[in-house]
Amino acid sequence: MVNYILAATARNQATAMLAELETHAPGAAQRLARSAFTELQTWPELTVDLVPEARTGSRCSVAGAYDFGPPARISVADAASRARRDFTAMHELGHHLQKNSFDLMAAFESQSDGGLLLEDAACDTFAAEILLPTPLVDHHLDAAGPTAPDIVELWRASGASRMAVCVRAVQHLPAPGHILLLDTGGQVVFAASHGLPPLRRGSFQGDIPTIAQARAGQGRADGRTQVRYRDGILGRELHAQTAPMNGYLVAVLVTDSAPWRTFTPPTKDTGPQAGEYICEHCDEEYRSFDPACPVCRVPNCPECGRCSCPARVSEHLCQGCFTLHPPAMFADGADRCLDCS
Ligand SMILES: [Zn+2]
Ligand SMILES: [Zn+2]
Ligand SMILES: [Zn+2]
Ligand SMILES: [Zn+2]
Repeated sequence: MVNYILAATARNQATAMLAELETHAPGAAQRLARSAFTELQTWPELTVDLVPEARTGSRCSVAGAYDFGPPARISVADAASRARRDFTAMHELGHHLQKNSFDLMAAFESQSDGGLLLEDAACDTFAAEILLPTPLVDHHLDAAGPTAPDIVELWRASGASRMAVCVRAVQHLPAPGHILLLDTGGQVVFAASHGLPPLRRGSFQGDIPTIAQARAGQGRADGRTQVRYRDGILGRELHAQTAPMNGYLVAVLVTDSAPWRTFTPPTKDTGPQAGEYICEHCDEEYRSFDPACPVCRVPNCPECGRCSCPARVSEHLCQGCFTLHPPAMFADGADRCLDCS
């Protein structure tokens, strides 16, 4: 089972990334905090481009891309606000640092998906740590956890991007949940998740309860809802609160301990129990209702047919080619593989 990134894991990785940045380019953190995009354009090892949003691809949680190269290239969507461009540029710098450091890559070894989710979440955390100073965050986000209006206030006070603020807020969630930034069409512009399957950028959530209510009104709503994953599958029920964020909507969703209520018991894990998985063997991302493997608890991947178990112990040695093959390569009872018989 994919171990969904906890904000704390991404934070540890981001701390190591900040140290790597300081070794690599002493003093750069302060210059990046002032103007990330401008600073990165002075780095000789990097090409930094502004591109139309549609050309950035969709792997990242932000509208940007990193190409290992050579030459290494950072693409940033030509977004309206400088704050948003800076956040995206810092996120992509995060990929650059992680892909060029064996020490940073070591953190991925303990991840069941090979570090895909951790790498991207750490990019967001790294960007937010640089662009949004801790004292300001602690001043605006209550110890009980962030409410949606708190997040808007932090955004107004900081001059950082809405995304940076969402990442900082998710670190303060008291329970598994999400911080979502939605556009007026109800699409996810950015999502930061903690302990639940992450939501993709671009997914439509405009008609789920609470979000629909917020969109129909003044942007303020609270209630219970389920977010929608790929193929329309709904996640578990969550306590939700929204606030308007100057043309956008910010939503806080948690399984329990909702910071805007005095007592919120854990929501029941209702709805279909499809799990979200990333195949260990071929990287396919999939959801499945199929019975899980009793050993690794992961159902078979629709792409390659394997569960998460490591190399099969049940492999047989073919007596024809003397190669180890999986059982599927042998007809029942045969001692030679399909290629040899
Ligand atoms: Zn990314
Ligand atoms: Zn697979
Ligand atoms: Zn298995
Ligand atoms: Zn053979």
